[in-house]
Amino acid sequence: MSSAIDLHTHSTASDGTDSPGQLVRAAAETGLEVVALTDHDTTSGWAEAADVARESGIRLVRGAELSVSHHGYSVHLLAYLFDPEATELREHRRAIRSARLDRARRMVGLLARDFPITWEDVAAQTTEGASVGRPHIADALVAAGVVGHRDEAFAAMLSGSGPYYVPHYSMPAATAVRLVREAGGVPVIAHPGAALRGRVLPDVAIAELVPLGLAGLEADHRDHDDAARRRVRALADRLGILSTGSSDYHGTGKHNLLGENTTARSVYDALVAQGSGVPVV
Ligand code: AMP
Ligand code: FE
Ligand code: FE
Ligand code: ZN
Repeated sequence: MSSAIDLHTHSTASDGTDSPGQLVRAAAETGLEVVALTDHDTTSGWAEAADVARESGIRLVRGAELSVSHHGYSVHLLAYLFDPEATELREHRRAIRSARLDRARRMVGLLARDFPITWEDVAAQTTEGASVGRPHIADALVAAGVVGHRDEAFAAMLSGSGPYYVPHYSMPAATAVRLVREAGGVPVIAHPGAALRGRVLPDVAIAELVPLGLAGLEADHRDHDDAARRRVRALADRLGILSTGSSDYHGTGKHNLLGENTTARSVYDALVAQGSGVPVV
């Protein structure tokens, strides 16, 4: 596995369960050559991850998974190698994190009517300063004995179509793609064919983002079946952009294993060649 490249993972800086350092160490021990840390809407794990990467010999791509919306669709945009100080993009990340916090509090308020859960229980499951999400609420429900695993909470009370769901502000995808490029970063749409997560973004809507700077589509991902992987790869080829593959590892919070899907070396090289906001560590 010495050439394995995994470009999508989460730490305790968002909704993963490994600290950024633990994650990089685990990736090195798994035999990955390259790992990208892509926490939701934050770069707060970057420094710790970089320190460990320098010691363990694995290459680290610093990134984030941005919550964006496009024609009413909720989309996750992976952004790699962008300058974390770029002002406008940083302000958008801050606004999304603040909206996430507000939304989580509102969801807990609704859940508290029917389940033994308080905001303090959720805070206890969240690393200080982390980007808060439904997985932290799920962890509080597990701790309270309401459900057995995050999965169960998502299938029941945290479902996007359920009575406790509250949406949160996301930045417009076109703005996100432009700002990521302006910050020297490389934007790639995460799991664009994941039908389980809700409605799938139509091809024409994806195509619109290419002239704005979209660099690629994540084709190989656990949430894509073989047909979806083929479809996404064919679309990327047609649009002349890259096709990546990644685990979307969340530690013990999800079943996804480090390196279970990977990105081809040639694709990785092309992606890195487009990034100038921060170097690969
Ligand atoms: P949020 O961003 O707060 O709306 O929460 C969505 C996040 O929850 C996604 O980034 C996933 O990582 C995570 N998630 C979605 N479904 C599940 C599930 N069934 N089990 C565990 N985590 C999940
Ligand atoms: Fe997540
Ligand atoms: Fe995602
Ligand atoms: Zn993710």
